[in-house]
Amino acid sequence: MAHEAAIEALRALLGDRLATSDSHRELHAQNEAYFARALPDAVAYPETTEEVSRILAICHEARCPVTPFAAASSLEGQHLPIAGGVSLDMGRMTRVLTVNAEDLNCTVQPGLTREALNTELRATGLFFPIDPGANASIGGMAATRASGTMAVRYGTMREAVLALEVVMADGTVIRTGSQARKSATGYDLTHLIVGSEGTLGVITEVTLRLYGQPEAISAATCRFESVEDAVNCVI
Ligand SMILES: Cc1cc2nc3c(=O)[nH]c(=O)nc-3n(C[C@H](O)[C@H](O)[C@H](O)COP(=O)(O)OP(=O)(O)OC[C@H]3O[C@@H](n4cnc5c(N)ncnc54)[C@H](O)[C@@H]3O)c2cc1C
Repeated sequence: MAHEAAIEALRALLGDRLATSDSHRELHAQNEAYFARALPDAVAYPETTEEVSRILAICHEARCPVTPFAAASSLEGQHLPIAGGVSLDMGRMTRVLTVNAEDLNCTVQPGLTREALNTELRATGLFFPIDPGANASIGGMAATRASGTMAVRYGTMREAVLALEVVMADGTVIRTGSQARKSATGYDLTHLIVGSEGTLGVITEVTLRLYGQPEAISAATCRFESVEDAVNCVI
């Protein structure tokens, strides 16, 4: 097996949360689009930032590729481990860490799905509006700078993400951004990492902007004579 040394060290760290069976590898080789399947050598299921950091440090040392994997709803094959190595499944990091209702924000682990977040928020009167159509994870949505049907009113993940905790390729943990709406201290690393599709680091915490639940929601289908008419209507 390729990358044997790294996989052995990861097994010592994670126990049965490091899988090398065909079924786990096959599950992480699929995509929603037409891209050829790409099998990882192993699948790791971390539960904490510390574990993500240790996994990346081990793989960095052994030159073993790592590809983050979340809800696998991306349509361009982004989560496929085309170089083999480790598929890093974020699906066990699903906790809501804090909800600051008065500040209209919350901090969550990246594997939490947007539907699960909105279920958690329901009683607060707040909601998280970005909706790409699939029940994607918050980390995957940040990594792909997801948009969706609510983008005209609420923006995209570019506007929704206020701060991040990210593990760099060598295992170093960094924090970017803050809850503050105004900040001009240093480089805007948050917006560098939002949309970077796992190439710059692994997102382990996301602080999100929240909104009040609308009093009413309605939908209608309208027909327009031209694209220009439709666009003008939206404006
Ligand atoms: C029916 C349908 C409609 C869709 N409509 C839209 C739409 O309107 N707008 C839109 O933007 N998208 C849309 N998408 C695409 C998809 O939902 C988004 O790309 C989504 O944000 C991916 O999130 P995920 O959790 O599925 O991530 P995955 O597909 O698992 O991963 C996506 C990328 O993020 C990386 N990644 C995942 N987690 C992390 C992490 N914690 N840290 C670092 N990198 C990570 C992966 O390596 C990969 O590169 C649609 C998909 C479907 C199936």
